[in-house]
Amino acid sequence: MRRAVCPGSFDPVTNGHLDIFGRASRLFDEVIVGVLINQSKSGLFSVEERMEMLREATAAYGNVRVESFQGLLVDFCRDQHAAVIVKGLRAVSDFDYELKMAQMNIGLSGVETLFMPTNPLYSFLSSSLVKDVVKWGGDVSAYVPDVVVDRLQSRFGQD
Ligand code: ADP
Repeated sequence: MRRAVCPGSFDPVTNGHLDIFGRASRLFDEVIVGVLINQSKSGLFSVEERMEMLREATAAYGNVRVESFQGLLVDFCRDQHAAVIVKGLRAVSDFDYELKMAQMNIGLSGVETLFMPTNPLYSFLSSSLVKDVVKWGGDVSAYVPDVVVDRLQSRFGQD
């Protein structure tokens, strides 16, 4: 079975992430979304909350599974029997860091990284920008799935 891992913080998941998951899900038998547990960065949502939103938002794809991991991404890929990491590239500025990570990861374990150009509709979109806009009352419903809109509203007390 050909499996790919899409790693990230997903605090929270955006339509940019979902676009990458959907495209990856057509290329691989199974896509594993790996939510990084970062002890030194708490985030707006807990890892469990992020996973709940991800599960709801990816249910329709049928072959996307949501897991969490800590430590090295290459170890997570080995545990999941995934030979490929899929990452979305928003702009050239993403590429510099992503290239180094991809080269380190292939050196560590032989895992390949596939870069997918982001859908131009979402090339400016990030989880942090979504949180900033919502904090000041802006409407982000075009950029995140409904489950995230609901959670953001209750978190920022707008419902
Ligand atoms: P980070 O890894 O910086 O915490 P995220 O968790 O938000 O960022 O995103 C995880 C991965 O999803 C990124 O490394 C990138 O590959 C991809 N990604 C993020 N935002 C977008 C977007 N708007 N369009 C396409 N891919 C994206």
